[in-house]
Amino acid sequence: MTALQWVFSFLKKYRFRLITALFLVTISCLLTIINPYISGIIVDDVIKGGKRGILPKLVLLLIGTTIFRSLIKYRFLVIFETTSQNMLYSMRDYVYRRFLQEDFNFYNKNRTGDLMSRQTGDMEAIRHFVAFVIYSVYENSLLFIIALVMIFTVDFRLALCMIAVIPITVLLTRKQLSSVKAAFHNIRQRFSSLNTFVQENVSGNRVVKAFAKEDYEIQKFNRENDAYRDAELSAAAIWKKYVPIFEFLANFLTVILYLAGGIMVIKGYITLGKMVTVSGYLWMLNNPLRMAGWLANDYQRFVTSAEKIYATIKEEPGIKTPDNGVKAKRFQGNLEFKHVNYRADDDVILRDINFKVKPGQTVGIIGATGSGKSTLMNLLCRFYDVTDGEITIDGVNLKDMDLYQLRSNIGMAMQDVFLFSDTIEGNIAYGSPNCSLEEVIEAAKVANAHDFITAMPEGYDTIVGERGMGLSGGQKQRISLARALLKNPSIVVLDDTTSAVDMETETQIQEQLHSLSDKTVFIIAHRISSIKDADQILVLDNGRIIESGNHESLIQKKGYYYTVFNHQYGEFDRYVNGNLKEVVC
Ligand code: ATP
Ligand code: MG
Repeated sequence: MTALQWVFSFLKKYRFRLITALFLVTISCLLTIINPYISGIIVDDVIKGGKRGILPKLVLLLIGTTIFRSLIKYRFLVIFETTSQNMLYSMRDYVYRRFLQEDFNFYNKNRTGDLMSRQTGDMEAIRHFVAFVIYSVYENSLLFIIALVMIFTVDFRLALCMIAVIPITVLLTRKQLSSVKAAFHNIRQRFSSLNTFVQENVSGNRVVKAFAKEDYEIQKFNRENDAYRDAELSAAAIWKKYVPIFEFLANFLTVILYLAGGIMVIKGYITLGKMVTVSGYLWMLNNPLRMAGWLANDYQRFVTSAEKIYATIKEEPGIKTPDNGVKAKRFQGNLEFKHVNYRADDDVILRDINFKVKPGQTVGIIGATGSGKSTLMNLLCRFYDVTDGEITIDGVNLKDMDLYQLRSNIGMAMQDVFLFSDTIEGNIAYGSPNCSLEEVIEAAKVANAHDFITAMPEGYDTIVGERGMGLSGGQKQRISLARALLKNPSIVVLDDTTSAVDMETETQIQEQLHSLSDKTVFIIAHRISSIKDADQILVLDNGRIIESGNHESLIQKKGYYYTVFNHQYGEFDRYVNGNLKEVVC
């Protein structure tokens, strides 16, 4: 399917409305024949022929035709406008749904500003095409043909003079279309880039201020702004070349008419009334010529935007829910990674990962930064697919499971906490919008967030997120934890969720988490204190599990975990002959 076929597939639904509207355009164009024709009769029969009696009827006919034509025009304009809005509504909805279906790789590849441009500026170019360009091209072509036919009926020699400009117009329009194409692609690119820049700078304004980089950012913005303006100007430079030629041709037609027509009237080949009729049709020839350049521009703008949108969404998401995927309301929590490898862009991120987890177990994951801890959990949620091997839950391969059921069974507090511009209650209840305030409070208590939330003037109604009140890193983490727990998932993933909270709060959170014995819990952490009570601890290094076991057995091993433990606690003297004494964390 091409980009244009894709766009027109959204118009299919409205084809009867569009045909009706085009029919009305045809009637409106045909009505334009009447007024110049009557003007000719007024000159020949009323003014020159003295038949004054028919004048009132002719004037009434003139007025009536004008009113009727205006009403028809109003009607078809409304149809085109509403069709364009409705079609755009469906298209925006489709594209947005597609954005939501896309996987992490899609968002790694596409910049936010680009995606926003697809949903705004590019959509507008498509709306303009449907609301204006379609009928304008049809109306102008029809007016031109009708005018030529009518002039033919008056005098074929005069019509032939007028036709002389058609080949030049067609040639010029084609040339303009092809030369402006690259310029419009450049404009869309620059617009996306400008959008991305503004979006990033507004989101990252705290970093800009912290590094006092305002001047530097202004210079960068100016470069983006200049590039966008230059792209628009170079497109304008192209049509600047063509528009005067079209304008000249339009005016030249007037000259041809008055010159050739005048000579014919003088020589008596045609009457003055016929000449008046022909000059009444002149605008129907002039207007299409004047519009040709603009419409070619609008058409190319539309094609470019359609191609941009289609290119963004045409590839099927890499990760999709399988047809008839296995659905499980609730997992038992038997989980297994079997010889899992994960590569991204030829880089091996995880290699030969093997482990089993029993229902209700807590698994701690520790390892140097960049060792693959978050990636391991991203594979579990199928944000990415394993390159080799398989992951099973309750014996079912993740790839055979219904994707939405899988994710609704997992409650994840991500490493990068993101809160929506909403109340604290709304943020916690994000995954379970139908829950009661009591349930929200319950989850907040488990996440040790209830006390600081109630200490705020507006409590659970406090607006947070982008336009809301500032929260500390630890407070955001606890809201994110409450959000993950409120879903009551069978598997909980906490990715560095307590890294920003103090040790005492962390201990309290852990005590609360211990009470969730019906859940399989993964805790990713850098602090030994966060994971030491886990049933199983996986130590990752450079994408491999280098050690696994519980806290005691790992200490006995005296490997990586042991070294980290000693770095964090400095308790060398507590170990005598390799025997672990009780450690107070
Ligand atoms: P941290 O403790 O800092 O959170 P981590 O152990 O969670 O680190 P990951 O986020 O899993 O580390 O990343 C592991 C490695 O994989 C890193 O080197 C990272 O750059 C790389 N990586 C992760 N995802 C991708 C991806 N989609 N494409 C390319 N590289 C990736
Ligand atoms: Mg991580």
